[in-house]
Amino acid sequence: MDRRRFTALSALTLAASRLSFGQTPSQPPAQSPTGAPTLAKPVGFAPVGLGGISDIFMRACAQTPNARITGLVSGHAQEKAPKYQQQFNIPQSSVYTYETYDQIKNNPAIDAVYIGLPNSMHAEYTIRAAEAGKHVLCEKPMAISSAECRRMIDACKQHNVKLMIAYRVHYDPMWQRIRELARSGAIGDIQGFQGGFYGPKKEGEWRLNRALAGGGSLLDLGIYPLNAIRWIAGEEPTSYAAQVATKIPGPRFAQVEETIEFNFKFRSNILASSGSSYGESGPGYLNIGGTTSFIQVQPAFNYDGLKFTAHTRTGPIEESSPGKGPYQFVYEADHFAACIRNNTQPLTPGEEGLADMLAIEGIYKAAGAPIA
Ligand code: NAD
Repeated sequence: MDRRRFTALSALTLAASRLSFGQTPSQPPAQSPTGAPTLAKPVGFAPVGLGGISDIFMRACAQTPNARITGLVSGHAQEKAPKYQQQFNIPQSSVYTYETYDQIKNNPAIDAVYIGLPNSMHAEYTIRAAEAGKHVLCEKPMAISSAECRRMIDACKQHNVKLMIAYRVHYDPMWQRIRELARSGAIGDIQGFQGGFYGPKKEGEWRLNRALAGGGSLLDLGIYPLNAIRWIAGEEPTSYAAQVATKIPGPRFAQVEETIEFNFKFRSNILASSGSSYGESGPGYLNIGGTTSFIQVQPAFNYDGLKFTAHTRTGPIEESSPGKGPYQFVYEADHFAACIRNNTQPLTPGEEGLADMLAIEGIYKAAGAPIA
């Protein structure tokens, strides 16, 4: 990479680092901290499932003038909705249960839904939203099989609504820079990747229930290095090898494996290895190895505090997250809102979720533990 281009990129990152993300403002701000242009009309979102990730998404929407929370969908609306109704000024008529969900079609204040449900519910609630004429921002993993992903893509096409999978990493300027550096020749020609994402989960969580999660940690955690590697390599895997193992005895891992380690190869002969676990503690990290040097990202997949070092031929480049808190969700909300208002295709459409699911199916098959 030439020095001028590097300086321009550094200036961009520095500018981003001055943006302030964080507190939920009481009034919509005039400008998004991402620097995204302010749309003439914000996009109205209704989160489906009011759990951990929907809470984060709602707070992110409050930080940009381009998105508003205009509806709520919950199986426990009486307990969970009032707090958000008060916070975002949502009338009772815009609060839905899973049974009344389809009536969102009659609510013009809702442009899009945000699917924050357990994995096995993503397909049904995406397809029902499409049938109601609403755009869909669906959390990862897109679904629990490639067949479901295809049905979701088809439904959204048929009903002429946009479908974006919430791969927050793609919208983070720091990650965009890592990808650009890796692909620019700054570390020579990419030869391989090593990554992982590890984090113990407690017994009783839906993530350890196969019917709700669809599989083990690969769908929830391993998907991060898998997706980042596919994105940076810019090609699809052609072969897989993998092993699953469960060391902790008892009911906790009765339905899904504790740990998976997997590797895959691209047509270009780039070789990648990665792992994830619900029993083993460890970092979220990604190493990108080139012919002359390498990039190390760690922590790589947390909400903030991310860091990378690129050991380039012209010296090390070190950078960290451009924002505090879950700033990536603000970028994500701005991007999807702009796609809806400007009629453009999201950077991470349903096809991106499908590609990950095909890889996940290939990995589990190689491990002798097929999920689909
Ligand atoms: P959560 O358990 O905090 O929330 C799940 C929501 O689904 C809750 O409101 C719950 O009431 C509802 N729900 C409906 N039916 C349910 C059932 N049968 N069992 C359990 N809950 C049920 O989970 P979460 O962490 O918010 O995860 C939701 C989705 O978001 C998952 O697909 C997950 O992979 C994804 N996620 C993405 C990120 C990210 O950084 N992009 C982070 C965490 C989770």
